[in-house]
Amino acid sequence: MSKIEAYNFSGKKAIVRVDFNVPFNEKFEITDDTRIQAALPTLKKIVEDGGSAVVMSHLGRPKGKVNPDFSMKHVQGRLSELLDVEVVFAKDCVGPDAKEKAASLQPGQVLMLENLRFHLEEEGKPDLTDDASEEEKKSAKAEMKEKQKQFSKDLAALADVYVNDAFGTAHRAHASTAVIADYFDAESKMFGFLIEQELQSLDKVLKSPERPFTAIMGGAKVSSKITIIENLLDKVNNLILGGGMTYTFIKARGGNVGDSICENEYLDLALKIEKLAKEKGVNLYLPVDVVAADAFENNANTKIVAVDQIPEGWQGLDAGPESIRSFQEVIENSKTILWNGPVGVFEMETFEKGSRAVADAIAAGTKKGAFSLIGGGDSVACINKFGLADDVSYISTAGGALLEYLEGKDLPGIKAIRG
Ligand code: AMP
Repeated sequence: MSKIEAYNFSGKKAIVRVDFNVPFNEKFEITDDTRIQAALPTLKKIVEDGGSAVVMSHLGRPKGKVNPDFSMKHVQGRLSELLDVEVVFAKDCVGPDAKEKAASLQPGQVLMLENLRFHLEEEGKPDLTDDASEEEKKSAKAEMKEKQKQFSKDLAALADVYVNDAFGTAHRAHASTAVIADYFDAESKMFGFLIEQELQSLDKVLKSPERPFTAIMGGAKVSSKITIIENLLDKVNNLILGGGMTYTFIKARGGNVGDSICENEYLDLALKIEKLAKEKGVNLYLPVDVVAADAFENNANTKIVAVDQIPEGWQGLDAGPESIRSFQEVIENSKTILWNGPVGVFEMETFEKGSRAVADAIAAGTKKGAFSLIGGGDSVACINKFGLADDVSYISTAGGALLEYLEGKDLPGIKAIRG
């Protein structure tokens, strides 16, 4: 693979996979252009070097059908405005129009292809009815695999170089995120700046963390975070667990969790995690006290109780003051901090104190020199809500891809380029 910062795009056509899956209002006006902004450094580098860019993305879930509601046309204008370059539009991502427009692209120009997911080949999943037999499924899948190869080859033929800058879809083995890389030699494929930065930040935390390394995991359920927790146990010094998953651990220890959210089928797993943490020398921190409420409502009655003595009819919805103090001390004395998931129902003001304290402590730790990475939709929402986005080292906006990377999985979009 090549490195984008060292690559000279002069006279080259680059096909760039971006993630322009942006939200719209009912008038198809973009309500948040963060994802377009995020791809600008890569696109600017290409055109400023004197190269041209063929931009491709998915938008929504059109399920293989042409649907004007999901047209990339809705994004064309904003990209042109932000790049300050005219953006030509191809009405399909493959076929004669795309071919012709890509062929006549001049240095400094940008071509935007229509939504990749107007073709089933992008995701590579055949359109099967529920009553299809095993035999039919097998042959449809094999046929689709061949079609996906041809589709990827057609996309690749539009350019000389392939750049992947869509970390958000790097966990998908789709035509434009992975298969296409097979049609470029090693020197002609690379990551864009966004993916490079994501990988650098993630690897700094997961592969060479300065110690002590503290991870704070929260959110609603332990079941959705279990693989990450297991993977992190091999890497962290301190693991703070909070939020809804607390109560599965506390119940497993024999505590009373009242009406708190609890996954009874994961009690054994919670005990296993505690045992593993001990064996691996990881300090495990759970809340010792919580804000219990008599309803899942902002204006519910609340009281501070010990985490293992929550009365019937009450549920733990935030970390209590003792817990907050211990979490803060651990976080502020860390050199590497990873945060995924709020430690309370931060969306309601009554139950936001714990998550706010975690965010404050991360900002304080960062100020003292720690490297802090915030990832996963809800902790990003938290950091933004508390106005601390500029006080942490790195915020990852990639949902599923980030979680899979934290789980220790090889992402197809990364592997396709790194090899
Ligand atoms: P996740 O998507 O798994 O990271 O979960 C995030 C959600 O967990 C947020 O919407 C929080 O409101 C919710 N959450 C955090 N703590 C609790 C709790 N104690 N009880 C119920 N939900 C919680």
